[in-house]
Amino acid sequence: MRQKMAAGNWKMNGTSAALAELETLIQGQHAATSELLICPPATLLSRAAELAAVSPVAIGGQDCHAATSGAHTGDLSSDMLKDAGATAVILGHSERRADHSETSEDVAAKTKSAWSAGLIAIVCLGETLAERESGDTLSVVGNQLAASLPDGATGQNTVIAYEPVWAIGTGKVPSLAQIAEVHDFLRQALTTRFGTEMADAIRLLYGGSVKPGNAAEIFATSNVDGALVGGASLKAADFSPIIAAL
Ligand code: 13P
Repeated sequence: MRQKMAAGNWKMNGTSAALAELETLIQGQHAATSELLICPPATLLSRAAELAAVSPVAIGGQDCHAATSGAHTGDLSSDMLKDAGATAVILGHSERRADHSETSEDVAAKTKSAWSAGLIAIVCLGETLAERESGDTLSVVGNQLAASLPDGATGQNTVIAYEPVWAIGTGKVPSLAQIAEVHDFLRQALTTRFGTEMADAIRLLYGGSVKPGNAAEIFATSNVDGALVGGASLKAADFSPIIAAL
């Protein structure tokens, strides 16, 4: 049985004051039965990890470099994230694919690096609006999954996040049938590649305009094991009801 997961991606939001939101969130989570993760900006990572140390909330990064060290100004290695207290890292988010021209091959290399550091890789996929409208959603996410995920994925080291680009930060959410179609397809693709037992252990998160008002119905959808939440993870008052809906 896959443990449900709620992951908050703070993106490029939050200075020291935002840690108060994390503290509020932690105080409300005494006996979490789901896995909870907050991915703050790297500047807050170690302080967030200290705050969350004896709590059910885990802390993650938003990206890592594929290399372990070296001349890569501005980048962070998976070992550095681990050292700062992260247990997971988001990889291949569509904003990184778009803003930094990351390819699925880049994401696969980063995923291997995350695994070698002992981090859970949260590998993101999703189609653009143009790709959905031209009927290419399943082939796009299928190709992204195949190329972004190296051999060796397990339920312990990998989480997949399906985030339609057109649903991110827009308030537009796919229909539940559309979410189910993609999640069922991803589960089948994982089964074909890794076998039933391994595929059944890998969690599939939905991301894109998840809010307190739509979380419960999304979580009840076929093969949805939780959510990767952007805007609604910034405030404990918004994220807490989403966690409660898991
Ligand atoms: P929103 O929840 O703000 O739409 O962002 C989703 C996302 O990109 C999470 O990684």
